[in-house]
Amino acid sequence: MCSGEDPAIHRHRIGTPPGPLLAELPAAESRRPTLAWTDAGAADEIGWHSAIGYSSLSVRTFIGLGGNLGEPAVVFRTAVAELRGVGQVVKVSSLYDSAPRDAFDQPHFLNAALELETDLSPVDLLLELKRLELALGRDPHGRRWGPRVLDLDILSFDGLCVTDPEHDLIVPHPRFHERRFALEPVAELDPLLLPWRNCSDLRVDVSVADLLPTVANQEVMRVGGPDWADPVSPSGLS
Ligand code: AMP
Repeated sequence: MCSGEDPAIHRHRIGTPPGPLLAELPAAESRRPTLAWTDAGAADEIGWHSAIGYSSLSVRTFIGLGGNLGEPAVVFRTAVAELRGVGQVVKVSSLYDSAPRDAFDQPHFLNAALELETDLSPVDLLLELKRLELALGRDPHGRRWGPRVLDLDILSFDGLCVTDPEHDLIVPHPRFHERRFALEPVAELDPLLLPWRNCSDLRVDVSVADLLPTVANQEVMRVGGPDWADPVSPSGLS
């Protein structure tokens, strides 16, 4: 570590991108579902789309990234490269160091968020994120809230609320509102975002910026700019 450098930055210093990881993943285009989620049959299958009358082809979603094993920033970059195959990555946030919250006996986490425009359904998007987590080294048997290489969460999906017990999916993410490490990077991307805007929920008019003061006591620190997602970023976090 250089003298005077913040230890939080050193903790998550990124190395060279993991070339072989990308090569091991099947081409994104070949993983696309054959049914668009706006298709009437697919909508009936997932059981919520027709109820809200949603018909747009592409929606605005916010994905949270987290990890505290290995080199999370390197894994994040690979995840972004892969997500470009399932939608348009519009913007990525800075990198944040956060103290573990639910289980304390583990290293600090690195967190970020990104805005993704996609035509996938919420369930298909979740399946894609889970597949990516595993492909990038997440231990499927790791303990809940324990250390992990990569965690990808659907934080917000076009202001919609989805509860799908069959696929274990709740959108917006059920703990989004109480986690500074998720709120802060999303607030950086769009402070006026209303994650519950299309829901019958008390929070229908609540923005991510409104929520930030309620989590101000949580230890979260910005440790790097949004250039971590650039295809080549030789300077790492510094
Ligand atoms: P985690 O350990 O945070 O990755 O939790 C994973 C579990 O949370 C998976 O079984 C997911 O199906 C479930 N889950 C529920 N809602 C969401 C969401 N909005 N985004 C991601 N995972 C979710």
